Amino acid sequence: MSTLGDAMTGGEPIRRYGDGTRCVRAGLPPAVPGHPLRPGPVFAAPFHLDPVAGPQPGLDDYARYNHPTSRDLEAAIGELEGGDCLLFGSGMAAVSGALLTFARPGSTVLVPSDGYYATRRFVETTLADLGVTVVTVPTAGPYPALGDPVLDHCSLILLETPANPGLDVCDIATLAALGRAAGALVAVDNTTATPLGQQPLALGADLSIASATKAMTGHSDLLLGYVCCLRPDAGRPDGDVLGRLRTWRRATGAIAGAFEVWLAHRSLATLDLRLARQEANARALTEVLLAHPVVTSVRWPGHPDDPAAAIARRQMSRMPGLVTFTLPDKPAVDRLLTASRLITAATSFGGLHTCADRRAQWGDDTAEGLVRLSCGIEDPDDLVTDLSEALAAAGRSAD
Ligand SMILES: *Cc1c(COP(=O)(O)O)cnc(C)c1O
Repeated sequence: MSTLGDAMTGGEPIRRYGDGTRCVRAGLPPAVPGHPLRPGPVFAAPFHLDPVAGPQPGLDDYARYNHPTSRDLEAAIGELEGGDCLLFGSGMAAVSGALLTFARPGSTVLVPSDGYYATRRFVETTLADLGVTVVTVPTAGPYPALGDPVLDHCSLILLETPANPGLDVCDIATLAALGRAAGALVAVDNTTATPLGQQPLALGADLSIASATKAMTGHSDLLLGYVCCLRPDAGRPDGDVLGRLRTWRRATGAIAGAFEVWLAHRSLATLDLRLARQEANARALTEVLLAHPVVTSVRWPGHPDDPAAAIARRQMSRMPGLVTFTLPDKPAVDRLLTASRLITAATSFGGLHTCADRRAQWGDDTAEGLVRLSCGIEDPDDLVTDLSEALAAAGRSAD
């Protein structure tokens, strides 16, 4: 596999470079005169086989198993997460693939009670129907202690931090140690933080899973997911985690197509810039929200007064562009979104455009007036002015 070190310096360690450099260079093949800086997507289902020797190790044969465009982006995301990466067709294909591969029937899995609602729904239906006992724990805890019978037959602990949409944070290193002691794999949904914000594998987790649909690619134009695990040579007792996931992906056909993958790799180059502006916008808009009397329960882990601030500062290197807050009711949210010119009503998050999503409309069990605000890359002053005006409208009574 090509590494950033190989591509840039002939093998020097990647950590010498800053985030911006790593994002621009990650996964690029070595420079070859006359070739493009980044290869185009390779569109193929079957590839030529040797007519006599048939399929050969190291040569592509069928794109459901693997394809060159996917390998380039896997190398890039693997560099950023500090592990080996497998791409999936969406975040849910990655999450469900990992859960169905590693949550054994008859065992217990621990999942966040306040995490991504589609994941919760999946474990409570499909996984439970397969004979997996599902135990839910809020992201902020309390978690069972070692020796608690709940951990006796635990095969997997899934963490989501910061959790979507409540933005609570948990201590990955402590829970990874707990999982290891209990003989359970620990997976972290790293969608909200991205690998530039948080390094679950370095903190001790076995798997870092994410939807690359969100901030990682950030242009609101594709669906993609991935699972990363530690390299086998990292000296950890992982077993063949990557191999089992690869077998799963091949059997279920959950691989991503070449065009999405290529587009994602193009977008990855600006991740550092996008996250920096989104964080700055989140910081500015959090202050506006905190100062407005109609708003309650503002959550942004980057704010010093946020309940998650201390852990977030310890384990995250940057803060997400997401802010969650609550207005009194649905009509107040309607007034906010109708009055705003720069906050687009849309789900998903991490994109270029500032968007707001009233989570209860999707069946998420949140307050009717809870809004997840995804800060885009517009100018902070424009967003501050727009949100201030929209909040004034939201605060006006309907009559
Ligand atoms: C969106 C999301 C997913 C699912 O990703 P898709 O790409 O939409 O399938 C999983 N986890 C979290 C935290 C998410 O926000």
